[in-house]
This record gives sequence, structure tokens and C-alpha cells, in this order.
Amino acid sequence: MTMRHVYAFSDGDGQNKKLLGGKGANLCEMTQIGLNVPPGFVITTEACLDYLEADELPASLLGQVRDEITNLEAATGRTFGAGPNPLLVSVRSGSALSMPGMMDTFLNLGLNEETLAGLIEQTGDERFAYDAYRRFIQLFGKVALGIDDEKFDAHFDEIKTRAGIKADVGLEAAHLREISERFLGVVRQEAGRDFPQDVMQQLQLAVEAVFRSWMGKRAVDYRREFDITPDMANGTAVNICTMVFGNMGDDCATGVGFTRNPGTGENEMFGEYLTNAQGEDVVAGIRTPKPLAEMETEMPEQYAQLVELRNKLESHYQEVQDYEFTIEKGTLYCLQTRNGKMNAAALVRTSVEMFREGLISREQALLRIDPEMLEQLLHPTLDPDSTTQPVATGLPASPGAASGKCVFDADLAEKLGNAGERVILVREETRPEDIHGFFAAEGILTSRGGKTSHAAVVARGMGKPCVAGAEGIDVDVALRLAHVGEQILHEGDVITLDGGTGEVYLGEIATLPADFSSELKELLDWADEVADLKVLANADTPDAANRAREYGAMGIGLCRTERMFNASDRLPIVIDMILANTEEDRKTALNKLLPMQRSDFIDLFTTMSPDPVTVRLLDPPMHEFLPTEQQLLEEIRTLRLYRDVVRGRNSALSAMVDSTPLPAPFSGLTEENVIDALTRKERMLKKVRELQETNPMLGHRGVRLGITYPEIYAMQIEAILEAAVECEKRGVEVQPEIMVPQVITSQELAHVTRTIGELTSNLKAEFGVNVHIKFGTMIETVRACTRAKKLAASAEFFSFGTNDLTQATFSFSREDAENKFLPMYNDSGILQDNPFEVLDIQGVGQLINMAVWNGRSVRPDLKIGICGEQGGHPASIRFCHHLGLNYVSCSGPRVPVARLAAANAKLTEKEFVGFDKPK
Ligand code: PEP
Ligand code: MG
Repeated sequence: MTMRHVYAFSDGDGQNKKLLGGKGANLCEMTQIGLNVPPGFVITTEACLDYLEADELPASLLGQVRDEITNLEAATGRTFGAGPNPLLVSVRSGSALSMPGMMDTFLNLGLNEETLAGLIEQTGDERFAYDAYRRFIQLFGKVALGIDDEKFDAHFDEIKTRAGIKADVGLEAAHLREISERFLGVVRQEAGRDFPQDVMQQLQLAVEAVFRSWMGKRAVDYRREFDITPDMANGTAVNICTMVFGNMGDDCATGVGFTRNPGTGENEMFGEYLTNAQGEDVVAGIRTPKPLAEMETEMPEQYAQLVELRNKLESHYQEVQDYEFTIEKGTLYCLQTRNGKMNAAALVRTSVEMFREGLISREQALLRIDPEMLEQLLHPTLDPDSTTQPVATGLPASPGAASGKCVFDADLAEKLGNAGERVILVREETRPEDIHGFFAAEGILTSRGGKTSHAAVVARGMGKPCVAGAEGIDVDVALRLAHVGEQILHEGDVITLDGGTGEVYLGEIATLPADFSSELKELLDWADEVADLKVLANADTPDAANRAREYGAMGIGLCRTERMFNASDRLPIVIDMILANTEEDRKTALNKLLPMQRSDFIDLFTTMSPDPVTVRLLDPPMHEFLPTEQQLLEEIRTLRLYRDVVRGRNSALSAMVDSTPLPAPFSGLTEENVIDALTRKERMLKKVRELQETNPMLGHRGVRLGITYPEIYAMQIEAILEAAVECEKRGVEVQPEIMVPQVITSQELAHVTRTIGELTSNLKAEFGVNVHIKFGTMIETVRACTRAKKLAASAEFFSFGTNDLTQATFSFSREDAENKFLPMYNDSGILQDNPFEVLDIQGVGQLINMAVWNGRSVRPDLKIGICGEQGGHPASIRFCHHLGLNYVSCSGPRVPVARLAAANAKLTEKEFVGFDKPK
């Protein structure tokens, strides 16, 4: 049986984009639903693949094409290759996925000396006919015969200049005839053959050229850039369609339209057209097209046809369409349609409005938006019209755009920020003690560190833009400047960051504000109704909690209490606690921290009432609260200098008879003061050296700290319990939860539950109240996954800390991986994604699955969530839904993305592939 390579538009399967390409399938579909599409047919992508493999057209193809041409002749009453009513066709590429402009196209194919004469006779318009002919010869010469455009353009320009004509429309028939003749000469000379007069030969060469363009550099690069794999699109189809002309007079036109405004989503006729023009004129920008609205008065009858076409397209495709049309002698033809590409604002608005209009279901409204796109709406973005080029690029660590004066330390950032200046904090890397600088800054730029560096995580939590690890920037804090390539950035110079792309610009670039519209709120409410997963936020301060609430967070899934220690009034007390040599001294410092933590918890619980707030007990190694050894050495050196100066001054003063004391502020600078400060710094240095660890992330941190210094966890637990009691007294319904980090064995949990038990009974004895607080553990070590059954016996909930769990599973240090080798691993395809952003389903996912399974086997109602960075990523959320987790927790600004992703995960659960849960 001969293979079928060709399908008439009236016959092809409109759903089979793989075989017929997107454009071809749509042409078939449009024809079959009764839209006015010029007759035509499609050559399949299979024929393309055969051609590319064998380097010749499949044997039966040309016979089938000839048959279809005969059908076209019958349908149109025209003749291919002969007058008086010649059939001309367009020959266009079209693969399963749209690759605009990447492959080749022919218009007016079928023109030769004979049909040209027929066309002149038929239209009585010699100018029109020669214009079509010269366009065809050039396009054919270029694409099918490989002749450079310049060879043709030189003649074209020469004739225009000679005639003193500026715009192409000024050319007359005689000019165009001469141009056509010259073009035929160009073909003869450059291709060493005559321009083919046999129209079937024209068609064959054109089809072969379109097939070849699938492997052309443009198309191959495009597929690589957009990760288009052969199972998404393999080979191009060829669409052969009867030509209709928008340039046969003033009752003709051509244009492109969107069924709704793709910039705003507004339900209006949107697009542009030109009367008496060919399609390419609209796109090429030679003449300025008119908005479609003008057509209503200029061509009212055709406008009415266009409105009808638009309505039919939308109601059939149930999606905003991007379509092309031509009006030939008063009759409207639709030449192409495809789903319209829109920005996030337009997608959201059209989703909500199309549902209200009854055009689509809620499920469709949710599924047609890629959750990641919502990010665009939640942060300011750089003005897309800006042409400024970036001076450096780092990692896009926290989205949003901001401009401000660069400052190189947190203190100055705070000072200027509080004085009303817009500042960008620029550091080599940031540390917890820089936190006050974050509060004051519009954005953060670091030259070292990855997307999970301190700067990145904190900025994301605050919803501020951050570019991390911009290695092209060399920060010199001492000189108060940074080198960016050849340029020098002085403190106070204005820079702009784009945290969504990682780009850094000199000077100020305008930004567009965030847009959390009422439509987005409505859409996300629908998402919440559909989803099984709850979406909680990682938030550590009342401010962040409030913001997360606005984004729709259904509680706090991770409050990193260490972040509460960083405020400038608290850090000195925390340092006292760390420096304490006895338990008693430590308790004195902790007693000062207790009321501060309690008041924060009261605020957090109240903001989130009645939803849960999961408080994680202290996690990071202690040294993170202290300055670095290097910093301390510098400070000690300076203080010693001061001490010597003060000593010198004192002895000089005492040598003077009747010396009067120095006026303020110099009088305060006593040797005692300086020595005090010096002693404190020296103690800090000693402590820093004591605390030094080879690998702090695997060292003395998390619950290990809580066991070696039980009074720290006791203070935190007490603050949580007392805050819960206080809220209850105020009539605020709360659901506090205590979570233990870095757990490896249930014995560790037993230590903490003992403390909770004791403090709860104390509280009961003191206030007569019974507080129940949910108790759970983070699962962020491999051992915790393997011991999940045992852990679930004492934990009421699990929260997967997939930042640490990924680190542990891969044996990658996340900072080093992201800065050194991960980009190369991703580029070369060794790893598909960055596992610190997208959950590694095959590896880390296996461990999670094991823990879920084992945990629930002993406690079926075990509440399980994820709170690592991956918790805000749609693909990871899909996996979490698949495993039956109860919630995901992510930084506040990711909450809307996660809410939509959670709904989409539920709606597409049946299509989930790539991971089998154990039965
Ligand atoms: C984690 O490890 O995933 C986590 C949430 O904890 P942190 O990032 O604070 O280590
Ligand atoms: Mg962790």
C-alpha cells in the first residue's frame, strides 16, 4: 500500500499536529468548521523526515500532490500553470510547534510567463501582476536556488533610484516589468539555469526547500534554544494553499488580529490591517498598518465578517487566537490561526472573563496559565522598552526590579534608607548581621553565592529583588568602590537590578509596578477550591507574615527563628548568649531574648489566626551570629591603635600643669572604654576560633545545638507556649506548631518533647491553662528518611527540608555547586535541572516517598509538607501532590505561583508520569 503523504484541508485531522504541523492541522480544522479558508492541502511531517533521510522526495509524493492540485483546480475553477484564470499557491512550512520565521515560505508560486499574461488579462492590472511576479522570482531564487537577496536588491534599488522613487508603492507597471526581467537574468546568472517555467517543477523545488529548512541553522538553533525535542516536533509539514490577494485594489486588504488584546486581555477587536497590500507588507513595516477599529468605517461589511470570524475562532478553540486574514475583492478569507501568546496580566484577565462568558470551564481557566508566569505580576519589572545593556550578570536569585544608590555595607544602607534614599546593598556576600541593611534596601547584589545563599533566601523572603553571585563585579568595601569590568562603581552611583534575569545595569531604568489584580485574586480562589495541597509561606517576621497573607498563604509552614535574632537590638544579646561561659550567664541573656521572641510569636500567630504557624527551633551554627575572624582581627587592630592613642593623650595631658579636661565627645573616650570594647572583641575572636568547624553545615547545628545547650530551645519553647496562652487570653484562635531541625533519630525528638512536657506542665500550674501544640520534625537528613517510621511515632507532622536533603543526597554543597559546576552540568545535560530549585524526583523524591510511606504506615493522619525552596516550584509541587503531601510552604511571593500550581497538579494528576508510587 502506498503511504499517504498528502491531506486536503477538507480531509486532514485537525487534532493531529504531529503529522500535519500546527498550521496545517488548524487549516484543516478551520475548513471543516466552515470558516472561509482558501482551498489547499498539507504534505505531512513524515514525508519531510523521509526526504531528509533519503535526500529525495518519497516516490509517491509528487503523484499525490498532482492529484490534490487537480482537486484545487476543480474547486477554484483555476488552472495551475496556464491562463486565462491561473491558480497560484502559497507554500508554507509548519511544524507541530510554532517556530515563527524559522523556516521558509513561498508566495505566488505558479507564476510563469504564461500565467503572468493570464493574470494581467484576468485582473486588468499589469502593475499588480508584475509586482507578484518579481516578488516570487526573488523569493524563489533566494530560498529554492540559494541566491543572495543583495543580487536582486541591487537591481531593484537601481531602478527605483533611476525613477526617483522612494517608496515601493510608487513603482509603476513598467518599472516592475523591468525589475522582473532583470530578476530572471539574476537567476540565470547566479544559479546557472533558467527560472523554472514548469510550475510542477517550481512546486517540487519549493517543497524540497521547505523540508530542508527544518535542518537549517536558524531552525536548529531555535529548537536548541527553546528545548524543542523530536518528540515535541519532528520535521515540518508543508501547507499548499490557494493564493488570495489583498493587493488587487481598494476592496482588498490584509491583516493580523488577536481575538482579545494580548497586552491587557481586554475583550476587543485587536489587530492591524492594510488595504491593497500583501501579508508581508503588514509585518515588514514598510507601510504603517491601521488599527482594526478603523475597518469598521472603511470596510463595514468586511468588518462584520471579521467580527464573525473572530467569534467563531474563539468559540471553537476556546482560546484566544492569533489569526491572519486577507480580503480579496470584498471576500474575507482566514489564512491562519494559532493560540495567541499573551503576557501574564492578559492571561489572567482572559481566563476569568472567558469563564464568565461561558466560553471555558474553571478548570480550563486554571490550566491555560503556566503558574510560573504569575511571577511577572507580583514584582515590579523593568520597562520592556528600555534599551540599556547590562554591565554584569549574576544569578536571578529573587525576582523583581529596583534602582538605587549602591552602598557597600548594611549600616550605611540602613542610615541612607531611613533617611528616605533608595539604596541597593552591594556586598561580596551577606551574613545574618547585614539584615538591617536588607530592610532598608530596595534590592541586594552580591558578587558571590548562589540562589540559596543567605542573600538570596532572605531577599526572597522579603520579596526584594536580588542578583547573587555576579562574579564580574569585584567589591572593595575598604575603598568604597566596585570594579565592573573596565568601569568603576563608586558608592552612591545609581544601579538597577533585575532579579528575574540576574542582570545589573548602570544608572536608573524605569520599572513597571506589580499588578495583583482582582481577576488574579478570583482565579487563585478557584485554584484553592480545586487543589488538595494547602499553600503555606516561609515567613519569619510579622511583616513577612502580613505580606504572605496578602498573597493568600494559608499559614506559615516555616518560621526560621534565627532570623528573629538578627534585628540590631537583639544581635548583641544573642552574642552575649554565645559568649557566655556558664549556663547561668547564658540564661541571663536568654531571659532578655524571651520577651522579644514571645512578642514576635504573638504577632505571627495573630496575623495567621486561625491558621497554623510552624516555628522551627534554632538551626544554624552559632558562629553565623558572630563576625568573621578576619573582621574581628581588623577591629581589634583598630581598637589597639585607639587604645595607644588614648594612652598617649592621657599621659600628655597629665604632664601638663593645670590641664583642663577635654570637651565632649573626646572626654568620653577613656582608656577604660576602649579596653572594654577591645576585651569584648577579643572574647569574640576566641569564641569564633572555638566555634570554627571544617564543615559547619554538617557540624554543630540544628537539634544538636538544642541538645548541647538545652536552655536555648527551652527559651524558645517557653516563648511559643506563652505566646499561645496570651493569644488565647485575647480570644485569638491559634495553631502553633513546634518543629525540630536536622533530626536523625527519635532520641533527639525525645529530648525536645521532654522539655515541651515540662514547660507545658509549668504553664498549667501557673496559669491553669492547657495548651496543645503540634509537635513535628523536619526531614532533611537521609537518615531521617530511612527512620521515618520511628520518627512518626513521636512526630505529628513531617516537613521536608529539601534544601538540606538535596545537599545530603547529592553530597553537593549548594553554594559551591551553584557557583562552580552546576551551570556546566545543566548546560551539558548531565543534570536536567538545578536540584536546589526543582526537586530531584528520581533521587531526593525516592527518599521523600520512602519517608511518606513509612511515616503514614504508623501514623495514617501524619501531616506532611515541604518547606525547602523547591516547595514553590510547579514541577516539584506536582510531585508533592502526587505523593499525597498535605501542604507546600514557600517564600511569600511564590505563594500565588504555588496556589495555581497546586490546582494544576490536581487537575493533571492522571497525566503524571515518571514516578511510580509503591502499591
Ligand atoms: C531546608 O533545609 O530545606 C530548610 C528549609 O532549611 P534551611 O534552608 O533553613 O536550612
Ligand atoms: Mg535545612
